[in-house]
Amino acid sequence: MADRDREADARVPVLMYHAVAAGPNDATRALSVTPQAFAEQMAAVADRGRTPIGTAELAAAWRSGRPLPRRPVLITFDDGYAGVHRHALPVLARHGFPATLFVSTGWLRGPHDTGGAPDTMLDWAQVRELAAAGVEIGGHSHTHPQLDQVGEERLRHELIHSKEIVADQLGVVPASFAYPYGYSDRRVRRAVRETGYAQALAVGNGLARRAQGPYALRRVTVRRSTGTEEFARLVEGRAIARTFALDRALTKGYAVLRRTRQARRKVLGAGA
Ligand SMILES: [Zn+2]
Repeated sequence: MADRDREADARVPVLMYHAVAAGPNDATRALSVTPQAFAEQMAAVADRGRTPIGTAELAAAWRSGRPLPRRPVLITFDDGYAGVHRHALPVLARHGFPATLFVSTGWLRGPHDTGGAPDTMLDWAQVRELAAAGVEIGGHSHTHPQLDQVGEERLRHELIHSKEIVADQLGVVPASFAYPYGYSDRRVRRAVRETGYAQALAVGNGLARRAQGPYALRRVTVRRSTGTEEFARLVEGRAIARTFALDRALTKGYAVLRRTRQARRKVLGAGA
């Protein structure tokens, strides 16, 4: 296969982390990892000769046809938990790994805190330190709703308000977005694009490919139950479908539940 063809068909593992914490609360526990597991996982990324890159870097390469580095992988964190600064940053810095942090601006500690955060979050000084250390800061809405379930006005506010806060706090306009819960539809993707985001990440528990388009790039979930073997499979992009078969069943079940609820809301005329 020619290099160009291989490039176009590249499948890139995009790791999705949430909290990095020794003692997370019940709300964030399942999707968290221990500081020790995170350190071991980053050592595994290095041992396997993987090259971490940023979200904007991946999308720009796919947009322009520029070659990706050898064996690329993305390290991403959602929401903005305090442990990303306390535990993950020193490990990332030791390896010289770039990463991306997607912040829900209304959850971070400080002037824009809406009080709805699920656990201890970063403050803006810590986010600025992460940015200064080379972590790309992306958007993740303001209050973390299921964006495909909210009305147009709320959708635009969630996107524009959070983007303005990040730009104001960091002096840099965020270029990448991650959908809360991974949920998006055509309307949400269009609004994200019109807000000025150049790319967006979903969940989907599959490898990212250029053919998915810049607003629906898939990620794989790393969680507290992810063992050494499973993590190696994720980083190598092997047996992803099998690893997440249960997730898919759960997601499908949840989608049915959501549809039922929506239908009931419509029937009752309760609206959003
Ligand atoms: Zn989130």
